[in-house]
Amino acid sequence: MFERINGHEQVLFCNDPDTGLKAIIAIHNTTLGPALGGCRMRPYASTDEAIEDVLRLSKGMTYKCAAADVDFGGGKSVIIGDPLKDRTPELFRAFGQFVESLNGRFYTGTDMGTTPGDFVHALKETNCIVGVPEEYGGSGDSSVPTAQGVLYGLKASNNVMYGSDELSGKVYSIQGLGKVGFKVAEKLLEVGADIYVTDINEKAIKNLVQVAEGLKGNVKFVEGNEIYSVPADVFVPCALGGIINDETIEQLKVKAVVGSANNQLLKDEHGTYLQQKGILYAPDYIVNAGGLIQVSDELYNPNKARVLAKTRAIYDTLMEIYQNSKAQSISTAEAANLFCDSRIESRKKRNSFFSHKKRQKWAVRN
Ligand code: NAD
Repeated sequence: MFERINGHEQVLFCNDPDTGLKAIIAIHNTTLGPALGGCRMRPYASTDEAIEDVLRLSKGMTYKCAAADVDFGGGKSVIIGDPLKDRTPELFRAFGQFVESLNGRFYTGTDMGTTPGDFVHALKETNCIVGVPEEYGGSGDSSVPTAQGVLYGLKASNNVMYGSDELSGKVYSIQGLGKVGFKVAEKLLEVGADIYVTDINEKAIKNLVQVAEGLKGNVKFVEGNEIYSVPADVFVPCALGGIINDETIEQLKVKAVVGSANNQLLKDEHGTYLQQKGILYAPDYIVNAGGLIQVSDELYNPNKARVLAKTRAIYDTLMEIYQNSKAQSISTAEAANLFCDSRIESRKKRNSFFSHKKRQKWAVRN
């Protein structure tokens, strides 16, 4: 087991027979600050599968936090259970107690399979919770800054491709009209861009038709996998992971891929294949950090202007990664990982006397 968690600082198995809670909390790296990462609930086929997931996701959070410059480290938790049957207030209170036992080393909140309301129960046992409803001190819908981050990512990518940030006058293909994709689609139509869209949910499509009336851009709907082969300037994945793979790369007729979906590359090498095909890839964890920026900001007395400023910085970070990728002749995915590694390394060399708990008190007082 120790070999398996090599590279992680701590893995905690949480077992509470009274509530049926079986959870795993993984803390990958706290160089930049306490670990932060959501809590995913899934009926994992085995404990092994749950361990694999939590180890992979917590490592990803270390990179995402480093890229977003939020002074948190990487962590994640998973609850082994069926979100449709097993989500009880007692289970989340028990989970909150385990989080509290880590004494500020780990902050968590909602992820796939859990809701902000679940964490209202956990909040009764620990303050190390983010993303609760606004009436409980949360900062509201995190998909708003996430969509803003995607739009900044599109602007930076357009700048690299066309020498201008302008979003209008281009064609975008959007997969997924959920909380993030819908907002991105609406903004693009507003500025006069044309979009192809697909979603498995007909209601989302109907809603976009209504919204599109009166907006400058045109919208065209396509079925399922057709979205990969429509001719467009940018493919904007806002639904599934693993959609950049051997099959889809062959079909893409775009100049760039910029979207919110997590883990877009099926494998790391698909970042290189995109580069070889001349397609600019905006690393997902750089572009989709707006939500993380917002929930981490909650812990410093929420401030919407600060969230917007940090989300806007996604533009500059992405430009730096594009430049590094070009200068070093490496893929943008590799350049993003190196960018984060160097941020973490440089912090290791500098001892901070301003601890996280002190910083929180400072933020609340100011
Ligand atoms: P969501 O669940 O609100 O929306 C996803 C949409 O994709 C839904 O409308 C769904 O019907 C559609 N969809 C599912 N399968 C599809 C398919 N095969 N083809 C086309 N459409 C399909 O999720 P969201 O919050 O909008 O997030 C979208 C993506 O961005 C996810 O990968 C998520 O992990 C990631 N992300 C979201 C946030 C956030 O703040 N919400 C932050 C970071 C990353």
